[in-house]
Amino acid sequence: MKCKITLQRVHYMPKEFEAGILYVSEEFEVAGHLCPCGCGNKIITPLGPTDWEFVEEDGKATLDPSIGNWQIPCRSHYWITDGEIDWSYQWTDKQIKEGRRAEEKRNRTYFDKRNRKPKIQSALSRFVNWFRKK
Ligand SMILES: [Zn+2]
Repeated sequence: MKCKITLQRVHYMPKEFEAGILYVSEEFEVAGHLCPCGCGNKIITPLGPTDWEFVEEDGKATLDPSIGNWQIPCRSHYWITDGEIDWSYQWTDKQIKEGRRAEEKRNRTYFDKRNRKPKIQSALSRFVNWFRKK
């Protein structure tokens, strides 16, 4: 089961997201969309070397790696590839734990080398600050 997701480049993330749209702000290194399962949750994906890689080809968006929403009840897991939602398997509790561990390890390794603050923090707090200002 595949469904389309349209790329929309923005400066700031809009307050309300529309279903089926992937908002990308390269300036703030963040992308956002509504969970495609229909639960209505906003999914924010920071972009960067330890986060998601965003590629645009012929106006179609690809995000890598897959998006695993284990922090919201639906726990949906999918890929955004060539402007389409490609559903993956559901997360199990074990995978969620392993995924978190792998993520922490990846961040640590990268930031140990670079010796600087994680980018995910600054991108997110800038984003949050912007909302507070509104
Ligand atoms: Zn959902």
